[in-house]
Amino acid sequence: MKRLLGAFAIIALSALPALPAHADTDPDAYMNEVAGHLGDTGVWVDPDVKELTFSEVATLDAAAKSASAPIRIAVIPAAKFDMAWEGEEIADQLYDRVGVEGVYGVLVDANSQSAGRGFHAVQRADHGPTYKVGSAVDEAVDCCAPDYEPMLERFIQRAQVVDKPFYVDAAPYAGGLAGVIGLWYGLTAWGARRTRRQDEKAHLKVTKPLLDEEIIALSQQVSALPTVSDPQQSKLSKDVLDTVEKARHRLDEAKGDKDIEAVTTLLGSARYGMVCLDAVRAGKPIPEPTAPCFFDPRHGPSTAEVEWKPEDGAARAVDVCAACKERDEAGEEPQIRMVKGWQLSTPYWEHAEDLAAYVDGYWSQGDGRVWWFPDSDFRRRSEQMRSRWRARRPGARFSRFSSDVGSSVGDWAASSNSSSSDGDSWSSGRSRRSSWSSRTRSSGGGSSRRSSRRSGGSRGF
Ligand SMILES: [Zn+2]
Repeated sequence: MKRLLGAFAIIALSALPALPAHADTDPDAYMNEVAGHLGDTGVWVDPDVKELTFSEVATLDAAAKSASAPIRIAVIPAAKFDMAWEGEEIADQLYDRVGVEGVYGVLVDANSQSAGRGFHAVQRADHGPTYKVGSAVDEAVDCCAPDYEPMLERFIQRAQVVDKPFYVDAAPYAGGLAGVIGLWYGLTAWGARRTRRQDEKAHLKVTKPLLDEEIIALSQQVSALPTVSDPQQSKLSKDVLDTVEKARHRLDEAKGDKDIEAVTTLLGSARYGMVCLDAVRAGKPIPEPTAPCFFDPRHGPSTAEVEWKPEDGAARAVDVCAACKERDEAGEEPQIRMVKGWQLSTPYWEHAEDLAAYVDGYWSQGDGRVWWFPDSDFRRRSEQMRSRWRARRPGARFSRFSSDVGSSVGDWAASSNSSSSDGDSWSSGRSRRSSWSSRTRSSGGGSSRRSSRRSGGSRGF
């Protein structure tokens, strides 16, 4: 009932002549202008926003552009659009005007939450994966609000994590087709698993010798450690030794990507353990765990950042170890881990398929958290491989089938662990209401049809 009253109020408002609340604000015109800056993915910040420096914006923009999800973010002052929309609808207004499926985030700049300060984001798409946009909003606000720069950095990192790999318009067919789909799923899933197993076998063939070598080298390093009487030091060196042993066992029994990933996570931990040991020995505090050296994960945890430009790509900041940092300062070429392909040795990140699990393991902290791997080409290609596996799965076939037949809203592949903000679009009354109200409220500029709301979130701070 309350919702109906709200709807009535909006109709009443839209029946009034379209006078802006202040003479100098026209929310629609302003939002059109904002959209004009975001034809490509990236971050655009209104010049009136003083919280972000030019170089911070450049870094964020580069991060959004290299993300594996299409992310567009605007940082705009509340006063410029007179808070004509609220919550996720603000992000949807941007989406309407850009008119391309993707992830849209709007950080509204103001002095306080009551003045409109907040962060709102939505993913609109009828195809492709669902990203964890809702939880990315929560994480960004929880970790870093009201500091815009770390907030947006966190959001960009988290909003490209795939929640559900594919999307199916299922609502009208779910009942009648359920039995048929069940049978179909059983038959095609078998074939998909086999293809994937063959790919993973090939990966193991490439990574096994690399990892054997790494484990031998690391064992030698560990056994060269001096025996000590200090209990903290001897505990640490025993932990490192155990971790290397665990990695060795896991590799001996490795069958696929999951095992490779586990091995490199263990090796990363062991190298971190060595660094901790050094710190304790030197009477320094234990350092925080960090991502491995980008040039070569065997160098151990990173301690610095350098600007690096690949032969055919844009310059970017990468995390590196102390030795690589020194080489960079001395103007020397980085010592990159090279991996032999058919004939030539090339940087490891060019082996996106074979080394996807190798990199994923190294760039994960072992507790579900991951570090950002800075090579976007690598990320894109390893994601392509995974979507190829998924494309052979029945769910993906069903997706193609149903998008041919017609569309409604739904998420057949909804997993039970999805959070409420990333929840199924068919159960989300909020999305329907907001898309409806936008059409009555916005005068021009809005698109005639919105793609399905896949995920989203909205927080004041
Ligand atoms: Zn290094």
